[in-house]
Amino acid sequence: MHSKTHPVHSSAEALRYPWESHPGEDQVVEVAPGVLWLRLKLPFRLNHVNIYLLADGDGWTAVDSGFGNEESIAAWTRLLEGPLQHVKIARLIVTHSHPDHVGLAGWIVERFNCPLLMSQVEYLQSVYHQNRGSEERLNAQRQFFRRHGMDETLTDKLLGRGQDYLKRVSILPPSYRRISHGDEIQIGSRRFKVITGGGHALDQVMLYCASDKLFLSADQVLSKISPNVSVWAVEPDQNSLGEYLASLASLTTTLPYDALVLPGHGVPFYGLKTRIKQLADHHEERCRMIAEACLQEPKTSAQLVPVVFHKHALDPHQMGFAAGELIAHVNYMLVEGRLTAEAIDGVFHYRTT
Ligand SMILES: [Zn+2]
Repeated sequence: MHSKTHPVHSSAEALRYPWESHPGEDQVVEVAPGVLWLRLKLPFRLNHVNIYLLADGDGWTAVDSGFGNEESIAAWTRLLEGPLQHVKIARLIVTHSHPDHVGLAGWIVERFNCPLLMSQVEYLQSVYHQNRGSEERLNAQRQFFRRHGMDETLTDKLLGRGQDYLKRVSILPPSYRRISHGDEIQIGSRRFKVITGGGHALDQVMLYCASDKLFLSADQVLSKISPNVSVWAVEPDQNSLGEYLASLASLTTTLPYDALVLPGHGVPFYGLKTRIKQLADHHEERCRMIAEACLQEPKTSAQLVPVVFHKHALDPHQMGFAAGELIAHVNYMLVEGRLTAEAIDGVFHYRTT
């Protein structure tokens, strides 16, 4: 892209992965002076999460905590007795409320007696996840999936998955310190700007250090996979995909093309703008598939899932995400005026305008 007007940028904008291999279970990799990268295993197809440690005076600021299970605690303990022996965590920043990121916040805060920093929305969302599973909420979710044409068997599977997944956290610390979009935080010798964005989570925290061009992108921009962008029963008309695309557009205009991106999953990379374009194109491609499928006759979300996700056989965990993602695309297209909705027997049917 821009090859005529910006010949210098074109090769720099290509995706580059300086560390093609990731740290092993008992390893830590220094990706920049005073920036350590480690990864913890996850019991899903997405099988790991990245944690970053930022030198912070005598201590370290940890970014994200890992999933709340015994294996992650064992992995942290091995690292803290091995390559991280010298590390005292002075602050914990959690980027968002998903259990692979916030899961061990309670454990770390207790072990190091350190403060937890989160955006207000993500902290409250974590509290909300920890108290889920009431009968009223299950009924609301059932009704939501029914409106999208999902049958009862599938709905039961999806609900089983959700309860199990989102509650896998250690007890959330009862207090936190708020960080908000636009804040500046001094971490050791570096100054980081707090950027938040919606779409994958409600108000996910990213950190950008302009002097060293380091961008901790959390799950908003991942190196090789597309972050889940979903709509759930709690806010059935949410335009999460619109929010996500707006966040990507803002990142691409405010951040430089040659920042080192440190994502929540996958490997660090260069080529932020190229990656953002790929992610936006990927969603546009899905919208085109939906528009095409709803051209001749109206379709439900349940009927559209196999149109968009035809390549994969989905287990219930993935199916839950696929249904939520599909509805996110449909809601976005409704807002954009590309689809209209009609309820037939209480089930939404979509038609291309
Ligand atoms: Zn994640």
